[in-house]
Amino acid sequence: MNPYNLPAMKGQMNPNENQHQLLRKIPGVDHLLELAGKDPYFENAPFSVQVQSIRHILENLRSAILGSARGATLEELSDQHILDRVKEHVMRVMAKNLVCLVNATGVVVHTNLGRSILSPHVMDSLLSIAGRYSNLEFDLSKGTRGSRYSCVEDVICEISGAPAAMVVNNNAGAVLLCLESIARSRRVIVSRGELVEIGGAFRIPDVMAKSGAILKEVGTTNRTHLADYENAIDNDTALLLKVHTSNYQIVGFSADVSLKALCLLGARYRLPVMEDLGSGTLVDFSKFGLIKEPTVQESVAAGADLITFSGDKLLGGPQAGIIIGRKELLDKIRQNPLTRALRIDKLTLAALESTLRLYRDPEKAMETIPTLRMLTTPLHRIEAKASLLARALEELGDERLTVRCVDRSSKAGGGALPLLDLPSKCVGITIRGMSANSIEKYLRENTPPVIGRIEEDIFLMDLRTVQDDESPIIVTAITKILKKA
Ligand SMILES: *Cc1c(COP(=O)(O)O)cnc(C)c1O
Repeated sequence: MNPYNLPAMKGQMNPNENQHQLLRKIPGVDHLLELAGKDPYFENAPFSVQVQSIRHILENLRSAILGSARGATLEELSDQHILDRVKEHVMRVMAKNLVCLVNATGVVVHTNLGRSILSPHVMDSLLSIAGRYSNLEFDLSKGTRGSRYSCVEDVICEISGAPAAMVVNNNAGAVLLCLESIARSRRVIVSRGELVEIGGAFRIPDVMAKSGAILKEVGTTNRTHLADYENAIDNDTALLLKVHTSNYQIVGFSADVSLKALCLLGARYRLPVMEDLGSGTLVDFSKFGLIKEPTVQESVAAGADLITFSGDKLLGGPQAGIIIGRKELLDKIRQNPLTRALRIDKLTLAALESTLRLYRDPEKAMETIPTLRMLTTPLHRIEAKASLLARALEELGDERLTVRCVDRSSKAGGGALPLLDLPSKCVGITIRGMSANSIEKYLRENTPPVIGRIEEDIFLMDLRTVQDDESPIIVTAITKILKKA
């Protein structure tokens, strides 16, 4: 009886005589370990990894013998053959899971690909702090315990014009911490049109609920007026919140209340006003011919009492959440035990301090901070990179490969400048006898991976986000594909 009506596992119940013979030919784990011990290939592989890999390969062999009519050939059961498979497996186990890759998507602040990459200046300070003791929480002038954040607070205030600053793990944490500190069990007024969801399950209403603050939404999806905020204010109100609708825009018949007007209203009712800026750029992109994105400095000048933004979006630094604003509020937030739970580590601090320092010279910042540089690269430079790559691929001289440069547009990403299309150049390739999906897969599984996109059966690589020294990686990867095709 088979009550579950499961299909019988083929061959597993009663191995036949042939299968028995093959199973008996499988070498033992100890024997293979001895062989591995003599092979220099395994020198750097820990013993546990060798054992694990040998067991895995032997188990696969056993299943092949029992599970398929074909079984296994004698050659497949030879020591050499098995050891080769063990080597492959060891290589896979030993390879790092977090690896560098080539971003040919054209999305500059790509959340899935690590958002911002750091400038070489920043990496230098990160490296030196990582391998040494530092004055992380030690005041060198007094010889006493110091504040972990003091190294970045001054420079944030200097650049943004804010009176006080602090830093936590990310902007989601910053918003949570501010709401919990200022508005727990009390009401926070937000426009209905700003109740956004940022990718990865950050939703303003949910964060609000977790902070213990009570959401009071006002206005309609497309229009919210100052009177809507004012009419909602009562004795339980703790905060007026404005959220930057990072990744979408309401266009057409729409109205929202400016931060400045909200701050005037807040002042009249003695209520603090907070803005979650999302990306929070310190640079006015409209000066570089891009769409205007509100800057941190403008929010400070408009009179916001608290402003939060990310470190690794348009700022171009490491993952962090930056909180700036009035000193009394920041002091209150600092005392919240959540601050400790959201604290940032010394590597992030080192990277953030060096990134922020680059902003002291705004022109240099545009060149040295990779995120800013990629967003403002002139089209002719991207075009030159695309032509060079296209030529290198044509010089492979494989007539199955078709290469062309095409006009496409890149995106800022990171929930910033959502409507902005940055004119860019892509290199598109097709390989006769191979689908665009297979090309995409080969490149994605390459070492290092190359990530692009498919459009109408052509594999496209946007050169805006490909670093200057990465084109040879692409050429090598495609050479490998052509050998396999
Ligand atoms: C991105 C974003 C966040 C979350 O910031 P993280 O640094 O990713 O935690 C919060 N609010 C807005 C408006 C955002 O755009």
